[in-house]
Amino acid sequence: MNRKVIIIGSGPAGLTAAIYAARANLQPLVLEGSQPGGQLTITTDVENYPGFPDGIMGPELMDLFRKQAQRFGAECYFKHVSKVDFGKRPFKIWVGDEEYTTETIIIATGATARLLGLESESKLMGHGVSACATCDGFFFKNKKVLVVGGGDSAVEEATFLTKFASEVNIVHRRDELRASKILQQRAFDNPKINIIWNSVIEEINGSVETGVTSVTLKDTVTNETREETCDGIFMAIGHFPNTSLFEDLLDLDRKKYIVTNNGSSATNIEGVFACGDVQDSYYRQAITAAGSGCMAAIDAERFLEEESHS
Ligand code: NAP
Repeated sequence: MNRKVIIIGSGPAGLTAAIYAARANLQPLVLEGSQPGGQLTITTDVENYPGFPDGIMGPELMDLFRKQAQRFGAECYFKHVSKVDFGKRPFKIWVGDEEYTTETIIIATGATARLLGLESESKLMGHGVSACATCDGFFFKNKKVLVVGGGDSAVEEATFLTKFASEVNIVHRRDELRASKILQQRAFDNPKINIIWNSVIEEINGSVETGVTSVTLKDTVTNETREETCDGIFMAIGHFPNTSLFEDLLDLDRKKYIVTNNGSSATNIEGVFACGDVQDSYYRQAITAAGSGCMAAIDAERFLEEESHS
């Protein structure tokens, strides 16, 4: 069956596109990917999504998005797209050996947490190293942990970790945080949070058997190194866009985000639209992602409509 629209990805952008496309009678198919619900499913309280004055848990919010899309006929499957062909219409999409064809595509594949790239980091991932405080914070009850980064994620994760850990140290490479002022103040006011300024992680020490035992820190001003003991370390140093499937097909910017044409969700291929974090390295908020998902569905609908008249 040739689809009118297939949506790849299921964060706020993908599922909002699904709500709008479903209400436009386009019977969208949503291939949700390997992290259904997207990045909000690994966050805790979402305090800045309008309409929820008391905040809402990220996974719950995404379940509500999905339910709303399904109510209007969107089909959502936990399937991971392995290959695409945008050479000619109908476009082709594969999930392993399963082939799908569609007249339009909405890409909402989002972004993924960045890691430092140290060998010790990958060796100890899941053994004291984590990129998700929400998932793993519970394992560090009354322990000492570090959080690497200086943005909103780092400060938010550090604050969350104080619910479990006895001590949380934010390790930041500069002498000033990038995080928003309200989050910064929350961290400064929290007696369990300490900030280690002007420092980078040179090495994570420990073994699979012992877990993380310490890190080697380098002072970015003096170049001196020292050891800091800890039981866990959380990476919160930003994200990269999930665009590897589209690298040779779509125009990407310097940071490999999909380029969309001024003020719309259109990519360089007619009928292929992009929304959410995969095309936005600047705002990256759930609400902006949702807004751009709405735009993508409207763009796809109008594209199909115009074609049907030509
Ligand atoms: P981010 O704003 O890009 O911050 C990344 C942080 O990691 C920066 O402080 C950066 O240092 C540091 N960093 C990057 N590479 C590093 C490396 N190799 N070694 C050491 N440090 C490194 O990323 P984010 O905090 O994940 O936030 C992403 C977006 O989501 C932002 O737009 C943010 O506002 C949004 N967000 C919002 C909320 C909220 O509103 N509640 C929560 C989470 C995220 P420098 O500062 O020196 O560059």
